[in-house]
Amino acid sequence: MTQASHFLEVKNMKQYFPIRKGVFKRTVGYVRAVDDVSFFIDDQETLGLVGESGCGKTTLGRTVLHLLKPTEGKAFFMGQNVETMLSDNPRGIRQKMQIIFQDPYGSLNPRMTVNEIVGEAVRYYGLCSKRELDDYISEVLSKCGMLPEHRFRYPHEFSGGQRQRISIARALALKPKFVVCDEPVSALDVSIRSQILNLLNDLKEQLKLTYLFISHDLAVVRHISDRVAVMYLGKIVEKAPKLEFFSNPLHPYSHALLSAIPVPDPKRQRQRIILEGDVPSPANPPSGCRFNPRCRYAMERCKKEQPPLVDVGNGHFVACFLHSK
Ligand code: SF4
Repeated sequence: MTQASHFLEVKNMKQYFPIRKGVFKRTVGYVRAVDDVSFFIDDQETLGLVGESGCGKTTLGRTVLHLLKPTEGKAFFMGQNVETMLSDNPRGIRQKMQIIFQDPYGSLNPRMTVNEIVGEAVRYYGLCSKRELDDYISEVLSKCGMLPEHRFRYPHEFSGGQRQRISIARALALKPKFVVCDEPVSALDVSIRSQILNLLNDLKEQLKLTYLFISHDLAVVRHISDRVAVMYLGKIVEKAPKLEFFSNPLHPYSHALLSAIPVPDPKRQRQRIILEGDVPSPANPPSGCRFNPRCRYAMERCKKEQPPLVDVGNGHFVACFLHSK
């Protein structure tokens, strides 16, 4: 039964991790890594999910894929409940939803050749015959900018950028429709980041993919996204189409993230907004607006009430009392 109209829809998702203490490991609290998050992604769209380290982006990406079972909430993929699809046909849904990890070295088995790494899951899912497998792996590698002869080498023989190309080839060899890209360029040298971003963009066009692109860097998100969602301490605080977001950012946290993007013209320096302190602990989030201890516009009510995520027009939503009643 169809229950959602978007390609991917996430409704009221929560991911709480219990904090256990004492001899009997009694639950004394919860780390609210993801706290009531809803969003959608349309077919062949890229949603950029941005926020500082520790704000819950990676946990959200994994919970959407149900690599972590949600505490509450649901994800719908092409109109179907992911949880139901996993119990009915886990292979089918796992093949269609893939993830590319941040650390291309840690995520590749050092004892396996590229051929084995890329071919392992292809064989498991029976995507091509034994006879066709080598040609298929060569074809996927070449789409990702690698050479057929690279099939016989091991991960340590490659640069960071090439290893990330292998990770991308491994995910795309399964012919997915939806890919969570979890900080795929953060561990790479600045000089090769744009090559990998361009590759991801080209592959998206060629293979008609849909991405949830997770990054702490708004400059990277601007390069690749169609829409942007900003996450702070387990909640989405602003979401908007890319052009609308970058021309009219509303949330004070988004202003601070934007101010950190370097401006290439030395005559046009941007005033950097330095956020005081670290992201507070999601085990004990501040009352009211979670951003209030670090917000320079915080008012009395911000310490008591949580601002709802409200529609301000043009597909733009923001959770801040400066923009709602
Ligand atoms: Fe700042 Fe208040 Fe807006 Fe939160 S609701 S971002 S504390 S002004």
